[in-house]
Amino acid sequence: MTESLPVFDLLIAGGAASGLALAAAVKQALGDGAAVAVVDPAPPPSASARPPLRTVAIAEGPRRLLERIGAWDAIAPKAQAIMKMTIMDGGVRDAVRLPHLAFDAPGGGPLAYMAFNDDVVAALAALCGRLGVVRVGASVAGFRPGKRVAELALADGGTLRARLAVAADGARSKLRALAEIPAYGWDYDQSGIVATIAHEYDHEGVAEQHFLPAGPFAILPLPGRQSSIVWNERRADARALIALDPDDFLRQLAFRFTPKLGEIRLASRVEAFPFRFQVARRFVGERLALVGDAAHVVHPIAGQGLNLGLRDVAALAEAIVGPMRLGLDPGAPSALAGYQRARRFDVAASGLGMDLMNRLFSNDLGPLRFVRDLGLRLVDRAPLIKDQLMIEAGGAGREAPRLLRGAAL
Ligand SMILES: Cc1cc2nc3c(=O)[nH]c(=O)nc-3n(C[C@H](O)[C@H](O)[C@H](O)COP(=O)(O)OP(=O)(O)OC[C@H]3O[C@@H](n4cnc5c(N)ncnc54)[C@H](O)[C@@H]3O)c2cc1C
Repeated sequence: MTESLPVFDLLIAGGAASGLALAAAVKQALGDGAAVAVVDPAPPPSASARPPLRTVAIAEGPRRLLERIGAWDAIAPKAQAIMKMTIMDGGVRDAVRLPHLAFDAPGGGPLAYMAFNDDVVAALAALCGRLGVVRVGASVAGFRPGKRVAELALADGGTLRARLAVAADGARSKLRALAEIPAYGWDYDQSGIVATIAHEYDHEGVAEQHFLPAGPFAILPLPGRQSSIVWNERRADARALIALDPDDFLRQLAFRFTPKLGEIRLASRVEAFPFRFQVARRFVGERLALVGDAAHVVHPIAGQGLNLGLRDVAALAEAIVGPMRLGLDPGAPSALAGYQRARRFDVAASGLGMDLMNRLFSNDLGPLRFVRDLGLRLVDRAPLIKDQLMIEAGGAGREAPRLLRGAAL
């Protein structure tokens, strides 16, 4: 009976930032030449839902991708440019923590942009609607790859067929599990406490990362006199901190927060997100590709999680759009192998780099502190290394896929 169902070229499980960006990139390049659907049980975020909380730092390469596919104009008015980033090492109660490393944008432009994840997802969902991406409000519950198409069973009893299925359904990806692709990694005994803080003085676009004994404490500028914090603590301590009443929480926060921004107050709810490191054994399977958190979860120490996801999107879109233009099969093993080759090394290197950085900085051992402070100061005095680090973090180098360089597919 399923033989009579229409066949999508691309069927994406997961309608958050990675899945929607992929749908929009392919649809924008191919228009009516591609039938694309996104399946997600959750509706896209709306202004009437609860206020956004979690933020993402969007690096230059992923920003160019968002601009090229037509989403950036809707995100930009709600985003804050990061003009400078300073990194400090110190104790919780140190009155002054000296900056050890400072990054200014090469060429004077922004280093990255801060935005609420919900605003990015809402902009991409609206764009997908305009481009004619089909949205199905359901969960993927079954996956059967076949010679020419894959069949995806939905939890509501429906079935969809596609030449290529994409798992963009997050860290606990159901589709990855259905395809029996294992994911390896480890839990950090750390959670990130996230909140929006209103402050007395202007942040002037400066982002600060304080390396405190329990882990990094980031102050990330938002539009107006507001900043988002990502405050790492051991899981049990994070649970205890978010259970405090708002005045006590604010007192604990004030010990860690920069005095430069004056009086502070809570401007949102407070939530804690557990951190882990996880990489899928393979990024592709039969008629299947994995993108975003479904493929990898990294420590947010350098704000790279979604950036890596958008780098997957750029590489996968480039791997399949060319063959699709020629009428070839987007789920063919050759296209998928090209995608996997393009991504596995970048993801493993970035993920392990962030893991190492977190381990190096989440402690208060004297000798280690001496070595890392020396390292930070050395890097700070080496402009070439700093520029290279920024280009790498931006994901927009000369070898990057076309969308990350702002070029059309
Ligand atoms: C505290 C914190 C701070 C962060 N800061 C940054 C940062 O500064 N910069 C950055 O780049 N990244 C950051 N990240 C990481 C970033 O938020 C994630 O990498 C990104 O949101 C992952 O997007 P995604 O689309 O891959 O997955 P998700 O956002 O997890 O979306 C998965 C989607 O799949 C849907 N879904 C689930 N199951 C099914 C199913 N069975 N069928 C269909 N759909 C399904 C869900 O409803 C959801 O919409 C941070 C993360 C945290 C926790």
